[in-house]
Amino acid sequence: MKQRYILGLDIGNTWIRACLANLKGTIVSVRKGGVNRSWNLAQSLDQLCGLIEIVLSACTAKSGEVRGAGISFGGLVDCQQGKAILSHNFPVWKNVLLCRLIEERFGCKAFIDNDANLGALAESAFGQMRNVRNFLYLTVSTGIGGGLILDGELYRGEHGLAGEIGHTLVQENGPRCTCGKSGCLEALASGTSLARKAREEITQGNKKGNKVLKLVGGRIENVTARTLLKAAQMGDPFSLQLFQDAGKYLGIAIAQAVLLLDLERVVIGGGVASAGKILFDPIQDTLHSLLLPEPREAVRVIRSRLGDRAGLLGAIALAQRRRDSW
Ligand SMILES: [Zn+2]
Repeated sequence: MKQRYILGLDIGNTWIRACLANLKGTIVSVRKGGVNRSWNLAQSLDQLCGLIEIVLSACTAKSGEVRGAGISFGGLVDCQQGKAILSHNFPVWKNVLLCRLIEERFGCKAFIDNDANLGALAESAFGQMRNVRNFLYLTVSTGIGGGLILDGELYRGEHGLAGEIGHTLVQENGPRCTCGKSGCLEALASGTSLARKAREEITQGNKKGNKVLKLVGGRIENVTARTLLKAAQMGDPFSLQLFQDAGKYLGIAIAQAVLLLDLERVVIGGGVASAGKILFDPIQDTLHSLLLPEPREAVRVIRSRLGDRAGLLGAIALAQRRRDSW
């Protein structure tokens, strides 16, 4: 009997992942490859298609057995045209008609959305938000992205940018953001901004950063969010303060979203979220101080457990939800 599969793809800034899942969404084969920033588009597409071939052959699946495909893309997309428009960190994917390409080569209907929207969808379909109708998903890593599930459905907004909480203002005249504005949440609470702030303070002679500097053997350019997390977990007050501040700014932005949309939950994924309590306590405290008394106790901010499979699971969920057009 012919098997039927869903293909899931996740094109991120560090990894490209491909997986094959059954129609229920259980992943049966998965493979990833590192992103090579020196590659051109043809080479990157070769890598992507090569990964797909591997997951297909691992299940001895033939192209005709793949019914639908979902693509998670770490940048701007045009869902209607099935196009990857732009990724700031990986400029090779510019105006690429990815869905058509996958459809022509692998004979299945393909759908695309950005990684934050699909993170939200993954939580709704496979994660801790299965019974939650109104929530915000946040990914806090190199940048900050967000996706909204309202009344049980992914809410994209007018331009597919709903949930982009990373670019809400949380500090007037604050640091410059990747989007060109100043004081955005992303410029104050992303992994990149945490590391930048630490390097700035150490360069300006803040002796409290000595422990962090020691962890990277005195090479300040090697200080990353991961270094700070390690130091914070060792109780380093300098690093703990940085996470405390990031949590405060996240809490400010989340409070605006909760007040506007009457959300029940907020779920946070991404590398910075692995800080756990160090980050989530100040988020919850700030939220508590900014929300109205009524929903204050009910609104919970929790850590995503989907890990680095959020993109793939979201891609599978996207294909599942479009089953009527396979
Ligand atoms: Zn911004």
